[in-house]
Amino acid sequence: MELDQFPEYIRPYLLPRIGGTLVYRCLQCGTEYPIEEFLYTCPKCQGIFMLPDKDFDRLKEIPGHLWQEIFNYRKMLNLPALKGIFLFHEFVAPLIPLEDIVYLGEGHTPIVEANDYLKELVGCRFYYKNDGLNPSASFKDRGMACALSYANYLIREKNLKEVLAICASTGDTSASAALYTSYLRGKVKSAVLLPQGKVTTQQLAQPLGHGAMVFEIPGVFDDCMKVVEYLADNYHVFLLNSKNPWRIRGQESYSYEIAQQFDYNLKNKVVVVPIGNAGNITAIMNGFLNFYKVGIIDTLPKIVGVQSVHANPVYLYYLEPNPQKRKWRPVKVKPSCAQAAMIGNPVSMPRVMQLVEEYNELAGEQKIFVVEVTEQEIMDWMLIANRNGHIACTQGGESLAGLVRALERGVVSTDEEVILDSTAHMLKFIGFQQMYFEDKFPAEYEVKPREELKNLPKLLRPSNISYFPNEKTLTTEEFKEFVKKTAKAIADSLNLQEKRR
Ligand SMILES: *Cc1c(COP(=O)(O)O)cnc(C)c1O
Ligand SMILES: [Zn+2]
Repeated sequence: MELDQFPEYIRPYLLPRIGGTLVYRCLQCGTEYPIEEFLYTCPKCQGIFMLPDKDFDRLKEIPGHLWQEIFNYRKMLNLPALKGIFLFHEFVAPLIPLEDIVYLGEGHTPIVEANDYLKELVGCRFYYKNDGLNPSASFKDRGMACALSYANYLIREKNLKEVLAICASTGDTSASAALYTSYLRGKVKSAVLLPQGKVTTQQLAQPLGHGAMVFEIPGVFDDCMKVVEYLADNYHVFLLNSKNPWRIRGQESYSYEIAQQFDYNLKNKVVVVPIGNAGNITAIMNGFLNFYKVGIIDTLPKIVGVQSVHANPVYLYYLEPNPQKRKWRPVKVKPSCAQAAMIGNPVSMPRVMQLVEEYNELAGEQKIFVVEVTEQEIMDWMLIANRNGHIACTQGGESLAGLVRALERGVVSTDEEVILDSTAHMLKFIGFQQMYFEDKFPAEYEVKPREELKNLPKLLRPSNISYFPNEKTLTTEEFKEFVKKTAKAIADSLNLQEKRR
């Protein structure tokens, strides 16, 4: 829609006003640093940063209901820069001019309601928000779009020469980083560090296909992260891990979208999200907090984080109910089907600790919970979801398994409505499904396939057929025989009724 076709009162707000005063603020010592540098840990105390807007209060001058209308109308504006996560420009990165925004189709992923069968089976009304439908097939694109838009802006402003973007990855960060940096060819080059043998074939193919330099490290993700942190502290590089708070800001769009998709009414709503490096749950909490503080939503939804028993440091931390007695201990991870969340020492833990407290306090009751699920439950529930019209990855299966656990524990009640994060597309993790169907999980995963969830192709080669098409060129008669007898065998096995003529 053209600008002059919108109602007059909304026109002045359709295009975001560039503004805001963003600073890196150390979570540990509180020191603030200007954002004109590539900085990831506090030079004073090694703490990590949030990226608050010191002029945030200016956003409160516009009433909540008007913000709602601004975002709703803005959706009809055909400006690529505002089509993705930057629909919420004022809340994402208000200082970035529209010309620098990188838009590759990310964000505004669909929310798909579970069918009656699944709702009955699980015991409440729920939806999947399919973040696997982002361009590189995971939610990481939200944060990447923000981080690379900022880099693009800084490169132009400061006339920087080719910047090296670097990240450690359990697979999806590198896929996303490689995609977005390849769009900025000539300005940004990218290098990614992956744990050898711990990413799927599909995830490895993505950075390779987008032309990134890929380094495989003999170790797990946590080891790759340490190397990348060292590089970021000692060399001139642009770090693309979620330690970089620009990533978090972009990922906050997930919450803004949920608010918009439910007409800003989040009463009785629960969001379930898998936790790995804890960047996503950080962003989801902060996103809802931002909208709440400005009055765009009037309820803070419940949030349930989910971890596998094979990578559960956040779960163990919150297991202790007394905040004074909680002790932070990283864990050594074991192999997990939820491989993208297989992290024993989440970088964003200090952010989580602070935000959980703020969130619960503002809500006036406990609204953040963490549950734990088994590897078996992750696989079973992923397969069950996908047999009912969904496209959940293993982490999406973890979300559903987490919901089942939360209902069991009374953390979520049957009259609440739940939005599950399916963080990536099922095809990225399809090897786990294959292992399940073929009963080939190595013992340390502790997954035994349930017969009724297995599915394998059946070779159809009826013995009464003389020749098959891939054996020789069939004569007309032989081909007719092949078609008729094969069809008969299928009809018999499916119990089909023959048409009467
Ligand atoms: C990165 C990732 C996660 C974990 O998210 P964190 O922000 O690291 O907690 C979960 N699922 C998928 C598919 C991912 O790519
Ligand atoms: Zn500090």
